[in-house]
Amino acid sequence: MKKKIAIIGSGIAGLTLASLLQTNPNFEFVVYEKEDILNLDEGFGVQLSVNSVSILNKFGFHQLNKNEKYHPSKLDFYSINYNKICDLDLTTFNSESAKYTTLKRSTLVKFLKEKLFSNSIMFGKKINNIKQINGKINISFIDGSSDKIDYLIVSDGVFSSTKSIIEKKVLKPIYSGATAIRAQIKITDISNINSNNISLIMGSDAHLALYPINQKKEFNLVCIIRKKSEGNDSIKTILENTILKENKNLVNLFKGDLKLWPIYTSNKPIKSIYKNVLYIGDAFYTFLPTLAQGASQAIESANEIFELISNNHLEIQSEYFKNRVERTNLINKRSKFNYFGFHISNPLLKILRNKLLKRLVKNKKFIQSYLGKIYK
Ligand SMILES: Cc1cc2nc3c(=O)[nH]c(=O)nc-3n(C[C@H](O)[C@H](O)[C@H](O)COP(=O)(O)OP(=O)(O)OC[C@H]3O[C@@H](n4cnc5c(N)ncnc54)[C@H](O)[C@@H]3O)c2cc1C
Repeated sequence: MKKKIAIIGSGIAGLTLASLLQTNPNFEFVVYEKEDILNLDEGFGVQLSVNSVSILNKFGFHQLNKNEKYHPSKLDFYSINYNKICDLDLTTFNSESAKYTTLKRSTLVKFLKEKLFSNSIMFGKKINNIKQINGKINISFIDGSSDKIDYLIVSDGVFSSTKSIIEKKVLKPIYSGATAIRAQIKITDISNINSNNISLIMGSDAHLALYPINQKKEFNLVCIIRKKSEGNDSIKTILENTILKENKNLVNLFKGDLKLWPIYTSNKPIKSIYKNVLYIGDAFYTFLPTLAQGASQAIESANEIFELISNNHLEIQSEYFKNRVERTNLINKRSKFNYFGFHISNPLLKILRNKLLKRLVKNKKFIQSYLGKIYK
């Protein structure tokens, strides 16, 4: 008999798992999404390293219109006054079929959605309660409907309220103390940097990442400021009191529509009290955005579940949890180290960091160990 799987949340993790399940006729699945439409976050960008691109290629990502994605070959490091420090060759991680990719988040979500049968996603659905009956999971929704399934996969993002309902305790992410400001920018707004590459501009307690997201050369800008946003501070005030103090020319990058949000990270991953309930993506663990691995890890975790269920593994939950925690710890350590390194404010330490960075990016052994293990 076909195994039935319910996926909660139609973000990158949930839709990746759905796309993978659709390739295997032994499964029946439904994605339950609380919103009434897909969240397409029009315009903002996302970076995908080769580890996730190779998974997406299993169901046709390589066929996505070439104009809608971009393959940067270098990551350029700059100090806040646009002095280039060094660059990292991203092509060393690429394979013949999978390349480091940047694109609009909406392009990725549309690609994932278009792969699915039209009735695969049910909108306006929020879990009210779950019960385990004879090894199956019975889920009931706020609208009064219910479903009986073999596996429940929760991918409802950083603020996962489903997790608290299932585990019957309050589980909340932690505020990191930093704020993200995002913008879409045009090539005409960019000067002093190489617009073909990913640019990482490091200031005191702040950094900016800027990269093309398609062949039209539209750009994504994300600025992470290590400062609590005071309740009423406007985005303009936050920028004026931080990075624009260090380089007023950066103002050219912030002309368009700006979006601000506080950055949250997870406390620690949890294993469900139910053996056939599993968490993936940000609902499993939300990383700091300083290694650009959030989406890639959402995709990887979905693939791990797919492989374990497809292979009828006897201990799916334990095996998944053990491997995912190991991977999460590795990426978390690197993300936190980058967070510290990108935001150094002491002038002497900055000089030291830049000298070290220049040497490290050319050290193949170090790069393979620091990044290669993640972009495997
Ligand atoms: C500033 C910033 C920059 C980033 N940049 C990058 C980057 O360059 N590269 C990268 O890889 N990652 C990046 N990330 C992280 C990345 O966007 C996330 O890690 C990724 O989107 C997680 O996917 P997900 O599917 O787990 O969650 P989400 O994409 O958040 O999807 C969750 C889905 O669940 C739905 N939902 C929520 N609650 C419920 C509920 N109760 N019931 C049903 N449905 C529900 C939501 O509506 C949504 O559709 C960045 C994050 C930040 C904050």
